[in-house]
Amino acid sequence: MTRADVLVAGAGLAGLVAARELARAGRRVLLLERRARPGGSACSLPSPMGEVDNSFHLMLGCYKACLDLCDKLGSAGHLLRAPAVYPLSHMGKAGGELRLHPLAGPLALPFALPGWSTYSPAERLGLARDGLRLLRHPPRAGQTVGDWLEDKAQGKLTRRFFDEWSRSVFNAEAQGMDAPLFLRSLRTMFASARAAQPVLCRRPLREVFLDPLLRDIHEAGGEVRFGSALKAIQREGRGFRLGTTEGDVAASRLLLALPPEALPALADGRPWRSALPPLQPTGAIVTLHARLRGWSGQRFLQGFFGSPWQFAFRTRIQPVVQEVQLVGSALEGNDREAWRRSAQDLFRQMGWQVLEEPWLIAQQRPFPLQSPAFQACRRGEIEAEPGLWLAGAWCDPDLPLTLEAAVGSGQRAARKMLADSVRE
Ligand SMILES: Cc1cc2nc3c(=O)[nH]c(=O)nc-3n(C[C@H](O)[C@H](O)[C@H](O)COP(=O)(O)OP(=O)(O)OC[C@H]3O[C@@H](n4cnc5c(N)ncnc54)[C@H](O)[C@@H]3O)c2cc1C
Repeated sequence: MTRADVLVAGAGLAGLVAARELARAGRRVLLLERRARPGGSACSLPSPMGEVDNSFHLMLGCYKACLDLCDKLGSAGHLLRAPAVYPLSHMGKAGGELRLHPLAGPLALPFALPGWSTYSPAERLGLARDGLRLLRHPPRAGQTVGDWLEDKAQGKLTRRFFDEWSRSVFNAEAQGMDAPLFLRSLRTMFASARAAQPVLCRRPLREVFLDPLLRDIHEAGGEVRFGSALKAIQREGRGFRLGTTEGDVAASRLLLALPPEALPALADGRPWRSALPPLQPTGAIVTLHARLRGWSGQRFLQGFFGSPWQFAFRTRIQPVVQEVQLVGSALEGNDREAWRRSAQDLFRQMGWQVLEEPWLIAQQRPFPLQSPAFQACRRGEIEAEPGLWLAGAWCDPDLPLTLEAAVGSGQRAARKMLADSVRE
């Protein structure tokens, strides 16, 4: 039987970051990953176009944990801080841009709205009026965005705006989202122009995050096993006996850096079975990699409102041909042919000429984004089991389901575990 001080389950960003911290603090760490590759939801894959990421991962200036990590890993040079300007098109028509002014501080977003020509001046006035009313009446705990808007916002346009905005920022429709979380996330992302500044990866995620994290774990004496899943949790003395697809592991501590849908299978006989978040199948996040002509010169990204596609990002630049990633999300269903057709329509509307068959990756999204019921998940009860800790982008209270949440949660869990073992 293998023995370890800490077994970390899941080599997504949260698990890799936690394993790195723990190994560097001298713990004997075993990191298990069910798949044959690291990165989980943020990974690099082979494709006919060469190595591509499963999706473009946009970071923002407010992603402090992520950006600090890149500094520590020596990969900060692979990042590009683009200007805080979001060009937006609406229903395929140029819709101006959201330009956040660096001197406006926390008022960067309100100051940018008047210049946003997606909406007519009258519509912008209506949105501003509703926006002020909403800020004067913040949502109650447990309220959905839909209920909050029903209560406090008057215009139909405001509801549509929130929905389009929520699709772009959170890959989800606003209606069912937890309203206090929605507001908190927006406040973090738009705290200033610097917070909202897009930060783009110039190299694949493998080079920016995954390889350097694995290097540090190995250098600190940690072990990583791919193709090895955690199957069962049993107590043994003050620690655990853990059933894995590769045999049993004895560990004093256990860190579950798993997505929430992996937890029910591990919860049998555990005191926290009833504390797990509710899950239900939903749609997909779709990424299309394309080589094209016609993308305008200096742009790094292009946002779309009123379309199932949310953003296009410029990934590689050559003199004439640009490589672009288009990211969209479906709230339900996932018809690849329909996605291809709607991408062609969008390319036509934008005047972009596609040069070869694009590469489409559709990823199912197994749980609904941050509804009040999901927010009410009793994580404290899960972590009340002695020696067990949780990490993962879904655990974050402020920017859940982001890279920042994954990195931050991994660091927090590792630090709590280290502080706990010092107390013992
Ligand atoms: C298509 C897409 C686009 C995205 N775009 C952005 C973006 O633009 N900006 C942004 O900030 N965020 C984005 N995200 C979100 C971001 O990728 C995630 O929040 C983050 O990567 C999650 O990391 P994690 O470690 O918490 O979880 P995961 O990445 O889900 O990692 C969990 C790992 O656990 C493994 N596992 C599961 N069960 C077991 C088991 N029993 N035993 C062992 N291992 C197991 C899984 O295989 C997986 O590798 C996007 C996500 C997707 C899917």
